[in-house]
Amino acid sequence: MMSRKWLLGMGVAISWMVAVRAETPLPVQERLTHVAPDTWRADYRFSQPVTSLQFVPVADFRKSAWKVLTPGVTLTTGGEHDTLAAASGKPLRQLSMEISTFDRLLEKQYVAMDRFSDGGRLIYLGFLQGEARQGKLVRDIAANFTLAGLGKETVLVPATPAAPSNSATPYAYFGPQSPVTAGDAQVLLDPGLSAWARETLLDTTAKMSTYYRAAYRQPLRQPLLLLAAVSDTASPGLSIKGGVVGAQIVYRFGGTALLTAESPKKREMVAKVVAHEMAHLWQNNARRGGTSELSPPWVHEGGAEAMALDGLLRTGIWSEEQGQAFTAATLDECAKLEHSFDSYRGIYACGFERYHQLKVDIVPLWRDMIGAADSKGEIYSEAMINSLVERAGKAAP
Ligand SMILES: [Zn+2]
Repeated sequence: MMSRKWLLGMGVAISWMVAVRAETPLPVQERLTHVAPDTWRADYRFSQPVTSLQFVPVADFRKSAWKVLTPGVTLTTGGEHDTLAAASGKPLRQLSMEISTFDRLLEKQYVAMDRFSDGGRLIYLGFLQGEARQGKLVRDIAANFTLAGLGKETVLVPATPAAPSNSATPYAYFGPQSPVTAGDAQVLLDPGLSAWARETLLDTTAKMSTYYRAAYRQPLRQPLLLLAAVSDTASPGLSIKGGVVGAQIVYRFGGTALLTAESPKKREMVAKVVAHEMAHLWQNNARRGGTSELSPPWVHEGGAEAMALDGLLRTGIWSEEQGQAFTAATLDECAKLEHSFDSYRGIYACGFERYHQLKVDIVPLWRDMIGAADSKGEIYSEAMINSLVERAGKAAP
């Protein structure tokens, strides 16, 4: 057994060594057709033949929700990559798949899909983007998406930014609703959202937008597209999860407490998630650099916690007491996690603790961080924080 494992390990190491990354991405036409309420058909057309298509694994999403339609092609999962390739090794010009709704929450991952209470669906196009292999050559994919709805439903993705920006693959909405305009933003809310939740969401979004724009001295490069789904009203309590891709925010509300009467505690929780997610919009508002896979997550997550607290207090959405209670609870949570970033919650709570310990105003610090990313293409890092804090210390009288 040992030697077999070792051999497999070697195989991976060798193929990794000889893989060559191409400079230019491969143009690919990706057509996503909504064929039934919980089924899509994805058709890939490659501009040049490829030997395989490989993706970063997303738990068992592809294993459980993807079905290959192209004869002779198989999906392999469980390894370093999820891979689609012809069993014969023959190069492929096109590839088709059936994709089913998969709306389980995965830690540290974007939600793959969301269900709205009126039948609407959200699907994260990023998980359909992979890399193509042409023999030893590995190439990024330049996907050109075409989206087709079921019947007369609305199909919605963010508008292409007018100004240059860090591009990101968005969520696509398929469903019965049309977005409404709210200030600079486009908003699409689940009709199942209770009045207090809807009001808190819209009010916090409007106030935080005005505050962040003034504090960080920049408008968003791309108008916000906000989507909120109510996907579960059976679980106990209240849950709200948010995700930001480029200038798009996707919220998923759930829990029985969503439908019951409002309470200050519930409003506080919704406002906190909104302020946190919106902080990411400004962190991502640089044309280059900034948040990257290379930056430790505590830098942007802890930063968003600190930016959110500042914003909630300055706008008066939270009282001083609410702010102090949040700070005490978060520092306490980090202490219980032994001040380590190793757990999921440690990234947030202990990230917040790091900024708290700096004893500097979070607004000029993050304004400079966003500026350094935008002007020099720098990636958010601990070294960036330290050098800016040191410089601010020297400049002070
Ligand atoms: Zn976050």
